Amino acid sequence: MKNKDLRDKFFDTPGSGHYHTAPMSRPGHPLLDAESLATTGTVVEREFRIAEFARLADRLARPEGTAIARLALSRIEGVAAGDLRVRATADLTCQRCLAPVRRVLESESRIAFVESDEAPVPADREAIPCDPQRLDFAALVEDELLLSLPVVARHAQGEACILPDAAVEIASDEPAGTRRPFAGLKDLLDH
Ligand SMILES: [Zn+2]
Repeated sequence: MKNKDLRDKFFDTPGSGHYHTAPMSRPGHPLLDAESLATTGTVVEREFRIAEFARLADRLARPEGTAIARLALSRIEGVAAGDLRVRATADLTCQRCLAPVRRVLESESRIAFVESDEAPVPADREAIPCDPQRLDFAALVEDELLLSLPVVARHAQGEACILPDAAVEIASDEPAGTRRPFAGLKDLLDH
């Protein structure tokens, strides 16, 4: 599954293995007991400020706006599971003109909270390794938003996307063979 591959990659990044360390509660966002909430079939809805998400904010043009998350918990095959929907509007950086470009980030995932990578996971559920009784919901929502970021953000046709004039002139005045400011970027975008 594509999403799972991304998540594995994400968690393999040094320093981002949030669920492999003891999660700390954030002010205003207590840890959730997903075990109890799954037993009672609770739906948890929360609103977060994008500015609270340091890892996500690093990837944005500006850390503004809010994210809405809805987690419907249930018990499946004895395992605490959740249907998670996350939606946010974020200002990304257009990789062509470097100006902000507003995009809706959205994700829907069917997950199961498991204490270890070896624990059984219900069919069609993505395993979230964590302490299910101390679920850091804010971190989970931030992970989902990070996974839903486009690989390359760019203005679409009809949106204002203008390369800075100066950069274009410098590029065309330079002799052939000189490194141009956007040459490397174009390579990156073509792959
Ligand atoms: Zn642009």
